[in-house]
Amino acid sequence: MSTFYHSTRSRNESVTSKQAILEGIAADGGLFVRDDIASGAPALDELLSGTYQDRARLVLGHLLDDFSADEIAGCVSAAYGENFDSPAVTPAVRCGDEWVLELWHGPTSAFKDVALQMLPQLMRVAREGDGRRVMIVTATSGDTGKAALEGFADVAGTGVTVFYPDGKVSDVQHLQMATQRGANVAVCAIRGNFDDAQTEVKRIFADGALRERLARENVVLSSANSINVGRLVPQVTYYFDAYAQLAAVGALTPGDPIDFCVPTGNFGDVLAGYYAKLMGLPVRTLVVASNANDVLTDFITTGTYDRRRPFHKTISPSMDILVSSNLERLLFYLSGEDTELVASLMAQLAEEGHYAVPAGLLDRLHETFACGRADDEATRETIRATWEGEHYLVDPHTAVAKHVLDARPADGVARVCLSTASPYKFSADVLAALGHDVAGLDGFACMDRLSELTGTTAPAALSALRSAPVRFSDVVGVADMNGYVERTAKELLA
Ligand SMILES: *Cc1c(COP(=O)(O)O)cnc(C)c1O
Repeated sequence: MSTFYHSTRSRNESVTSKQAILEGIAADGGLFVRDDIASGAPALDELLSGTYQDRARLVLGHLLDDFSADEIAGCVSAAYGENFDSPAVTPAVRCGDEWVLELWHGPTSAFKDVALQMLPQLMRVAREGDGRRVMIVTATSGDTGKAALEGFADVAGTGVTVFYPDGKVSDVQHLQMATQRGANVAVCAIRGNFDDAQTEVKRIFADGALRERLARENVVLSSANSINVGRLVPQVTYYFDAYAQLAAVGALTPGDPIDFCVPTGNFGDVLAGYYAKLMGLPVRTLVVASNANDVLTDFITTGTYDRRRPFHKTISPSMDILVSSNLERLLFYLSGEDTELVASLMAQLAEEGHYAVPAGLLDRLHETFACGRADDEATRETIRATWEGEHYLVDPHTAVAKHVLDARPADGVARVCLSTASPYKFSADVLAALGHDVAGLDGFACMDRLSELTGTTAPAALSALRSAPVRFSDVVGVADMNGYVERTAKELLA
């Protein structure tokens, strides 16, 4: 028996998880969700025994229950093997009185690999018996794009088009994408910021005429953004895994509460923690950490979401977001699965740029969620203090979360800071935070300097970018993204 998915905004369309993964977003513009995540979830002790891969099989088997056990097992072994440079996949490391969950041991050195090594496997299976070819279209603030390119490169029957904001990603992020290998990939900069790119990608998905023209070529558009349920679900695993790792070393006893602090942009990562809680993990608090783009901090504090504010370019660019797409899923669950309420809030956001949630919903939000912010200065200070105090090097995104977590009084409950990128992905900013002059140094000189200074080593794939040839240099305006997608879909999937 499989449990069906429907839109956050209506129950008109009922699809299997395979269909939801192929389509990416619901026809009415909502996100695919499933009612009652708790019912039928595996028992906690079952989820805590075994390996990372065992936990992934249980979590995916529960949330994507139209996949067979064999299909899930095949996906898990393809996604979480040698491509991660830690046998633990996502190791938890002690840092002072806290734990840091290192989510960046995959091929692109950011946490998005955990989901994007899995999503292409899920799509490969979902396509069987369907026959359509899939064009993945993704807007990226820097890390998703590369992780999607790496996950989908040369996967049969798929293509990828990635849009990123021109000049708003780091040197290394830019090179990671511009040098991507694979015959089925396209990379394009856009004149605008990440929200412009993401908004236009959503519009492209909602463009019925385009979908029809592509359908005649047997091509379906899909998304690798965390709006795709196949991207969200694999992230639930590491919350259980972190808890299991802490239990294994006696840092907590199964049943004890735990707090997580998550550096947040599109709200996918922290939402996965909420899914884990709904599935029975004893999560006490999920702390949402924002940079200067603190729309979520304000929302959690006041219950009013207001995107009408200046956009800040920060040293944690993957969190430079004003419209947090996955928040829509949280509203769905917190409202008691009320699709009408979600639809009206989202319509108001689209038309007026803001909405306020009912008081009861805000109370339920506060039962689990807390928040805090770190501006660039606090972020730099945290990178420096963590290195000097603990001899542990964090990237700017992780530092935002660590700053927010450290500001909360400890009360004996185990706490885990999610670490979302290798510090070497953002070497220049990390080096500057440690007090070094980076003027005139390119991304690679910064990597070398950081390595000399700290005695740590850059991930091999990042070092290898030095000699990789640049393949992509297109830049288009937002208005041309639609045409770009249609052209590349025909070229790459012909
Ligand atoms: C994407 C990203 C984030 C934000 O994750 P969301 O799921 O969008 O909230 C944080 N840090 C890094 C390094 C990222 O790449």
